[in-house]
Amino acid sequence: MPLSVVVFSGAGISADSGIKTFRDSEGLWENYSIEEVATPQAWQADFTKVLDFYNQRRKQIRAAKPNAAHYALAGLSRHSAVTVITQNIDDLHERAGSDVVLHLHGEITKARSTRNDSLIYTIEGDTLLPGERCELGSQLRPHIVWFGEEVPAIPEAIDHIRRADIVLVIGTSLQVYPAAGLINYVRHDAQAFYIDPLAETINLPANFRPVQGSAAEQVPQCCDYLINTYLNG
Ligand code: NAD
Repeated sequence: MPLSVVVFSGAGISADSGIKTFRDSEGLWENYSIEEVATPQAWQADFTKVLDFYNQRRKQIRAAKPNAAHYALAGLSRHSAVTVITQNIDDLHERAGSDVVLHLHGEITKARSTRNDSLIYTIEGDTLLPGERCELGSQLRPHIVWFGEEVPAIPEAIDHIRRADIVLVIGTSLQVYPAAGLINYVRHDAQAFYIDPLAETINLPANFRPVQGSAAEQVPQCCDYLINTYLNG
């Protein structure tokens, strides 16, 4: 059986592509507080502001390019079955060539009905505007899991993590739940790595090896190591 690799990424993997994380901006997202733009209450209070915030993020993400970390992970799938579970709403894993990507917190390139969660649409262009409606006639919202909302992909993510022989956790502060809890499902006999500039300062389960440094620098080296040690032959 080929070994199964699971990657669990956070905002830090896209930092080297020029997209800011939360923690490095003192809990703000591009100068907005989370409560102002990324909660159901924010949508109720001022949905035009929320749409505008995500329209700006969508423009910024479309202009960004995948970095060496995204490409190295896409390359890993030539050697093994690789599933990427990401907290990111950007599409940089896909644009680098990863083809199995589970977005825990939604996708910036998509819109969703406010009446029926299963009606999801690809956004053409950069903007989603007030008055753009689903086929049932209700306003479209960004296809994003906001703070305080359920994370429907968690059971599927747990299933992947439990079956993984190799786990790479990359660029996440492990502060946002339930996503952060996924590391507790890593098998004790799995090879597990945590790559982050703060890796050595974070309390990790005993079977994790901390790798301190930026994703663009450390992920390609880590992928080479995995290919040479576990995945070749
Ligand atoms: P976070 O902001 O809480 O933590 C970012 C982590 O990345 C930190 O641990 C930091 O040390 C690390 N980091 C910073 N620079 C790095 C680099 N060059 N290489 C590797 N790691 C680096 O992010 P989170 O844990 O993902 O949780 C925040 C939530 O914010 C997520 O749910 C996500 O949906 C959302 N978010 C997404 C994006 C995106 O899609 N790119 C950007 C900002 C926030």
